[in-house]
Amino acid sequence: MTDLVLSAEEARVLGCLMEKAVTTPDHYPLSVNALINACNQTTNREPVVDYDESTIERALEALRDKNLSRRVRATGQRVVKHRHVIDETLQLTVPEFAVLGVLLLRDAQTPGELKQRTERWHSFRSLDDVEQALERLGQRGYAEQLARRPGQKEARWRTLIVEAGAAPAASAAPAVPAAPGAVLVEPEPVAVPRSVEPAPEPVARSLDVRNPATGEAIRSVAVTEEGEIAQKVARARRAQPDWGARAYDDRARAMRAFRELLAAEAEECAQITTAETGKPITQSRNEVRAVLDRIDWNVAHVGAAIAPRVVTAAGAGPVEERITHEPVGVVAHISAWNYPYFVALNSIVPALLAGNAVLYKPSEHATLTGLRLVDLMHRSGVPVDVIQVIVGAGPTGAALVGAEIDMCCFTGSYATGRRVAQAAAERLIRLQLELGGNDGAYVADDVDVDAAALALAEGAFYNGGQSCSAVERIYVHDAIFDEFLAAFVDVVSGMRVGDPADEATELGPLARNAQLDVLDAQIADACSLGARIVCGGARLDRPGNWFAPTVLVDVHGAMRLMRDETFGPVIGVQRVRDDADAVAQLDDTDYGLGAAVFTNSRARAERILADLDVGNAYWNTSDRSSVRLPWAGRRHSGLGVSMSESGVRTFVREKSWHLA
Ligand code: NAD
Repeated sequence: MTDLVLSAEEARVLGCLMEKAVTTPDHYPLSVNALINACNQTTNREPVVDYDESTIERALEALRDKNLSRRVRATGQRVVKHRHVIDETLQLTVPEFAVLGVLLLRDAQTPGELKQRTERWHSFRSLDDVEQALERLGQRGYAEQLARRPGQKEARWRTLIVEAGAAPAASAAPAVPAAPGAVLVEPEPVAVPRSVEPAPEPVARSLDVRNPATGEAIRSVAVTEEGEIAQKVARARRAQPDWGARAYDDRARAMRAFRELLAAEAEECAQITTAETGKPITQSRNEVRAVLDRIDWNVAHVGAAIAPRVVTAAGAGPVEERITHEPVGVVAHISAWNYPYFVALNSIVPALLAGNAVLYKPSEHATLTGLRLVDLMHRSGVPVDVIQVIVGAGPTGAALVGAEIDMCCFTGSYATGRRVAQAAAERLIRLQLELGGNDGAYVADDVDVDAAALALAEGAFYNGGQSCSAVERIYVHDAIFDEFLAAFVDVVSGMRVGDPADEATELGPLARNAQLDVLDAQIADACSLGARIVCGGARLDRPGNWFAPTVLVDVHGAMRLMRDETFGPVIGVQRVRDDADAVAQLDDTDYGLGAAVFTNSRARAERILADLDVGNAYWNTSDRSSVRLPWAGRRHSGLGVSMSESGVRTFVREKSWHLA
């Protein structure tokens, strides 16, 4: 008799089901719901934690559509002959249901795929194995034990996993997502004989989404394992040619439907983003609203940008020359969290419209937003394999870059971007990098000081300063320095810092806890080199990732505050002698995303901006992007172009025709 050996993922699912069991009698009444939940967990959709009627109905509908029972029969798994048998006739114990859930998860498209999966997962080699496992699980009476000791349900899951041989070591315990309010205690050792050694498995992982305003857990989401990434890439590759061959209007129709759904669910989407990133709710709403226009622009312009072009018509020369555009193929998009709608959709929408398939890895700090976006796309008619979500943090992103993709669009920090570029170079795939910034702004001596102070406070502190194009350094003409500083500090110190869900809030928490250390270190370094804090300067003493809006003076270009990306509500203000000094300071950076000049003279601004090595030149504004303009950071700020017609062509390969 073979022992039941669960993969880490299976054990995790089992854990979820067992948790449900604690509150239910010996016989499990939530059969189908539980299975749906299990399916959701392993397909990286948002886990269905709180069942409501419509969720269950939708999921049931999806299961019906999949014609699960017929396929199960076809693949010979007679244990699960018919869903209704499970519902109405079979009185299975909780663990039996758990195992059935696992079996359903293995529902494969073809007998070959089933075999492949079975081999990969190293268990349930035959139907006898399954039946014996069911029997043994039933005998062990886990449900009863759990029901008697509800406080230790987490420990029992972990014990169970160890017994089942899925977790290679105690360190793998976080594989089990904690149910809200679950008590984490060490597992009791339970001696259970094991007749086979556990097969090596990737460690199951889940991603805990937390509210940065409070530090509280919101939800746990299954991470996409490396093997699953390969499968998703393969599915995308199979689906792409059909999607790419469709008429442009077909793809545009799906994008328009997506736009309408996003508009209809805008408020819910904004709230998800605010909850997981800490972005003030009014700013989340602004982003969702603004991205709708970007979708419109893409729908209206991508078709023309990728239409065939005759360069020399027939008869105009000995050879007709023509250009056509073909999709790149399978595009990975690895996203940052700070503008999750802009960053993701700036790439995904034109990529899909141009006929590519997309594997989208949202940032680990904006996972729920990413899951929602993909859900909306599927509901809008984009085939499920044409846009797929990959959940996880850095290692998952690295695995995605290393998979058999044709292109990687990456948005994130310079440090990570370099690693991505090195990995992409291994396979020489197309690469687009949108990286960090260190934008400077110059305030000339002819400005309306109050207006400039207001505009720059927004440029530096909008979204908590967590924008790639946030103003990170301010240079002020000597003649108005004191006046400007007073006005600027006045605005900054009056900012309403608070609950991001509150409409009055202007400054929320930082999305990432680790960034607090970066800010502390930059301020300490600056102060050790002579800088002075004129407002803020420290964390706020409350749960969550809070930092006071901070202004420093007596700063200079050797300080990390001025050289590195700050990505938080902290800014240095430096005095400059004249325009030439300002140009020298603005250009004294490794980054090249943007620079701003505040002056009453457009000619003066254009003269200064023309000399700067940046992709974005701002006059009397800052921290702005437009879908109509190319977004192309220079030096450490990136490679390639997004948005505008130039950005659209990022997602196609040109073919040159020489027709004699
Ligand atoms: P990050 O570099 O930490 O992470 C970005 C993404 O890369 C995440 O999805 C992360 O999981 C993934 N990742 C991490 N390690 C990886 C690896 N080795 N291989 C592949 N993927 C990996 O950046 P972040 O904190 O999410 O975002 C902030 C940064 O993004 C800032 O520097 C900001 O300026 C930049 N950004 C740039 C733009 C732009 O348009 N230029 C826009 C938004 C954000």
